Amino acid sequence: MNAYDNAIRQLEKAAQLIDLDKDVLAKLSVPEKIIMASLPVRLDDGTLKIFQAYRVQYNSARGPYKGGIRFHPQVDLDEVKALSFWMTIKTAVVDLPLGGAKGGVVVDPKSLSQSEIERLSRAWVRAFRPVIGPEKDIPAPDVYTNPQIMSWMADEFSQLEGKPSLGVVTGKPLEYGGSKGRDTATATGGFQVLMEAIKLKGLDLKKTRVAIQGFGNAGSVMASLLYQAGAKIVALADSRSLIYSDQGLNIEKVLEHKKQSGSLAGFSGAKEISQEEFFQLAVEVIVPAALENQIDKNNAKDIKAKIILELANGPTTPEADELLTKQGVLVVPDVLANAGGVTVSYFEWLQNISHNYWSEEEVEAELKERMIPSFEAVWQIAQEYKTDLRTASFILALKRLEKAIKVRI
Ligand code: GLU
Repeated sequence: MNAYDNAIRQLEKAAQLIDLDKDVLAKLSVPEKIIMASLPVRLDDGTLKIFQAYRVQYNSARGPYKGGIRFHPQVDLDEVKALSFWMTIKTAVVDLPLGGAKGGVVVDPKSLSQSEIERLSRAWVRAFRPVIGPEKDIPAPDVYTNPQIMSWMADEFSQLEGKPSLGVVTGKPLEYGGSKGRDTATATGGFQVLMEAIKLKGLDLKKTRVAIQGFGNAGSVMASLLYQAGAKIVALADSRSLIYSDQGLNIEKVLEHKKQSGSLAGFSGAKEISQEEFFQLAVEVIVPAALENQIDKNNAKDIKAKIILELANGPTTPEADELLTKQGVLVVPDVLANAGGVTVSYFEWLQNISHNYWSEEEVEAELKERMIPSFEAVWQIAQEYKTDLRTASFILALKRLEKAIKVRI
């Protein structure tokens, strides 16, 4: 399963429904620029290792390129292309004046020391310096990258420019130009739209059972938010293990266990389950918050949930999407469900270039003001075109992109 093929299938489905201008479709079917680099990094033992790195600048019709950088062993060019395309759609869905891009490095960061990761992060910036910048292309965290890495990247760029250039990346630590609420933004935005979806499905949050796949920045914060709101988190999964408790998991204790042991495995009061069992659970909500292609035609048919909230990018294949729609499952798509991250990135960038910092309350309120109307607009379009929320999100984004592209081609 190639994520880019899936992304283009999603594009074509929505384009057909609205009879998207042919030139615009042609323009959106390919990335504007692909930049590749080999990053030489000196390891702690003295050997030199070369890492393959990418930046795909998919589309800038609506503003500077924007999107995270992923450090993962399975990164490849097609994945980065797909992710950069989804960023283009995502920024348009929530109406940010930004384009779409994504970066990646083929690396297992768990095998590197902190100083090796620092050298790799700085090498990434040196290699891509000509194409990034606060007015050009603004990276951010993604899978296995974090505020510390963004801090090294902003510092490297600022040193090379000879002036502080905080707006070059977002998702930085608070002490170095970060925004309040950025670390929790992806989950917070997802939580805000999930509350709308729960209402529409006539569910009661206090009786809602949830399974979350992925326990990184998005998944773990989502687990905490739902736990505090009174939902029952019955299953969690990280890259190594899947745990289940019929009674519901105490998320505070799970977080403590993960912090101490580095994994969910061995958490007392829960049993380990398989990936197959995870997707068959009797729950109301499934939150994929890990990687692409997790829900496919093989496991989609067993899904009993009423809502799937995609905090990950591309977790559902097009075949699974069709099955889920037929089964009456409400899929809140990635380009809407996880758009809180890039939205607060946009706020961070605004704060950096205006040198004026917002309170946590302001950030959360502004985020809600983007997320809820976007959800409502998508919902309206879905009714109008009698289609699923993914196609509706694409329609909303494509109409905005079409206008921005048409005025200049
Ligand atoms: N990596 C996140 C995403 O996929 C955030 C991107 C950003 O903040 O630029 O949306």
